[in-house]
Amino acid sequence: MLFSRLIGHAALKAKLIGNVREGRVPHAQFFLGPRGSGALPLALGYARYLLCVRPGAGDACGECGSCRMMDKLAHPDLSLSFPIFLGEKAKTCDPLLSEWRDAVLAEPFLDAALWRERLEGENKQLRMGVDIAQEITRRLSLKAYQGGWKAVLVWLPELMDTAAANKLLKVLEEPEPLTAFLLVGHDAEHILPTIMSRTQLVKVPALAAADVAQALKERFALQEPEARAIALRSDGDLLEAVAMAEKSEEELFVFFRDWLRACYANKVGDAVEFSEGFAKLGREQQKALMRYALYLVRQCLYQRQGLPQLVRAHGQELEFVQKFSPLLNERNTEGLRRELEAAHAHLERNANPKVLFVDLSYKVGRSLRV
Ligand SMILES: [Zn+2]
Repeated sequence: MLFSRLIGHAALKAKLIGNVREGRVPHAQFFLGPRGSGALPLALGYARYLLCVRPGAGDACGECGSCRMMDKLAHPDLSLSFPIFLGEKAKTCDPLLSEWRDAVLAEPFLDAALWRERLEGENKQLRMGVDIAQEITRRLSLKAYQGGWKAVLVWLPELMDTAAANKLLKVLEEPEPLTAFLLVGHDAEHILPTIMSRTQLVKVPALAAADVAQALKERFALQEPEARAIALRSDGDLLEAVAMAEKSEEELFVFFRDWLRACYANKVGDAVEFSEGFAKLGREQQKALMRYALYLVRQCLYQRQGLPQLVRAHGQELEFVQKFSPLLNERNTEGLRRELEAAHAHLERNANPKVLFVDLSYKVGRSLRV
């Protein structure tokens, strides 16, 4: 990942490059940012800059041998560690390195859910055990291939077991020269405070809507207003925005509108049919539909509360908001919101989508008819 190819975060990139140029490379940094903010590509861009043989004033050269290896994330001086399904078959990252590289090259904003999907283990837990910490130590004992910096990337350290975290802490407490630890995660609460205190925090904020919109236009055949609308709804989460764009607004809207009609009319057969359609969507799209539903309910609520200036819907969405909002009242809105949020949470925990959706259809229908 060249810095110039990274979306947004201009000031942060300049600061990171400035630090390296001034010879101030911290022994350990923690790139902490919400999902879809780009903490991982930033850390990888930083590693590339650090390892580049001919770094320029604003970016790595992109052409040296080191940069070529970084194109494939396969650089002998870049150590990669990440959570896996710990078990009989795998205890360390080495056997899964090419899998992880492919995943990041396909989606540099990779998150745990996408990684889990890639490993085809929807119901398994991603963890980092002590063997992975040992693997880091073993790799550190190797001489640097280029004779310069070594970059040690640890992705999602919040998923480390206690034993692994303690071992990592030991390594961080005894800094080796020319070794830069780059921890990348979303959740500082599940990191040992002692690890946090050993690392310099690089706070990665959510992306600006304009940056997300720009990225969407590069990835999808979207017009500015559509890209902008999705970007605004994504709250600066590029993965979220991408998921929304993939399941285009139109499809989500039609599915949601028709389903809600069936729920309201208490058409049991239709609800079952919708559930079958729902089950066929990917997990991310199912979650996207729940978030979309929450968004539309919120729009309806604004309309009902006499705050149409807050309504972001347009076109047939707006028409729907105007027609549907009279059905909402104090009692059912809260119930509706709760049910949709619960469904989203259950999907995160890999609930059976068909069963969940049939159940949700009944509950939503009932609260609408109150
Ligand atoms: Zn280079």
